[in-house]
Amino acid sequence: MNKDLTDLLSKNEFVSGQQIADTLGVSRNAVWKAVEKIRREGFDIEAVTGRGYRLKSNEDAFGEISIQSFLKTKWLGRDLTFFEETGSTNDEIKRKAEQGAAQGLVAVADRQTKGKGRRGRTWETPGGENIAMSCLLRPSFSPDIAPMLTMVMAISALQGIEEITGLEPFIKWPNDIVINGKKCVGILTEMSAEPDYIHYVVTGTGVNVNTESFPDEIREMATSLYLEGGRKYSRSKLTAAIINAFEKNYELFEERGDLGAFSKLYNSRCVNAGKRVCVMDPKGSFEGLAKGIDDRGELLVTKDDGEETAVYAGEVSVRGMYGYT
Ligand code: ATP
Repeated sequence: MNKDLTDLLSKNEFVSGQQIADTLGVSRNAVWKAVEKIRREGFDIEAVTGRGYRLKSNEDAFGEISIQSFLKTKWLGRDLTFFEETGSTNDEIKRKAEQGAAQGLVAVADRQTKGKGRRGRTWETPGGENIAMSCLLRPSFSPDIAPMLTMVMAISALQGIEEITGLEPFIKWPNDIVINGKKCVGILTEMSAEPDYIHYVVTGTGVNVNTESFPDEIREMATSLYLEGGRKYSRSKLTAAIINAFEKNYELFEERGDLGAFSKLYNSRCVNAGKRVCVMDPKGSFEGLAKGIDDRGELLVTKDDGEETAVYAGEVSVRGMYGYT
């Protein structure tokens, strides 16, 4: 009903309440209620007595109905829960997963109060400007494969951003999207598993979309699509574009069980490939020349003594020699 209504109203002409009621086979009162519902999501709807309703703009709308109106997926995001505010969308998905929710459930929030980064760090998601989204997956592959999903999501976020903004994002291994050397997307994959069996995986993605300025602590390393592109973007379109790309990429990944289908693209857009890096490993940091990732997502680094090593993302961060990238 909501999708049919937004489709009907998006033809840029007035449609009377009676016409809508007849077309959708519902009462006038149900039409009025549905219009109010999509208005609350931010749809700008004009209502003129005697003429009816017209959709003026959906650029600012951000919610379940607007996101789903842009989805082209079969199973991902067809069940989608939207939160004006929540602690963390990853935690929301975990809770639902524990209660038996099916693969494909997506949680999206306007604001997170306890957004998480890797290794207990925080991810800032103030309200009204960003996307926080998490997807529930129940893969049949073995648990050691799951961390690569972070990279599948990185590729998907890159493709979604490119499609909606025309900007050229890059990837900082393993899990950040950067533009002009600053971070605009963070990805956190969490898993519940037995040694040889995955209960579920949650891939969480935070995107800085329309942020105008950042807190002092992250100003130097953070950016938003608005700051890079000079205009505001529809968060619903972008959320849907990322989900659309992720479903396609996930299916390809699942078929192969490695990153073979993506490593070429990943490496061509990886800011670390071909550069000197400092690998900050809790077991001992070292420097070297990064080549790019292998099909398992490990970063191939040639140490200064000539030894080639494959760095596993788990506990490790990399930095460029003169800054974040
Ligand atoms: P690295 O690999 O570079 O060490 P990471 O990918 O492990 O970083 P994450 O855990 O993904 O980092 O992100 C958490 C960090 O990102 C925080 O410690 C903070 O410095 C920074 N940060 C927090 N919120 C944002 C945001 N909205 N935009 C950009 N950076 C942020």
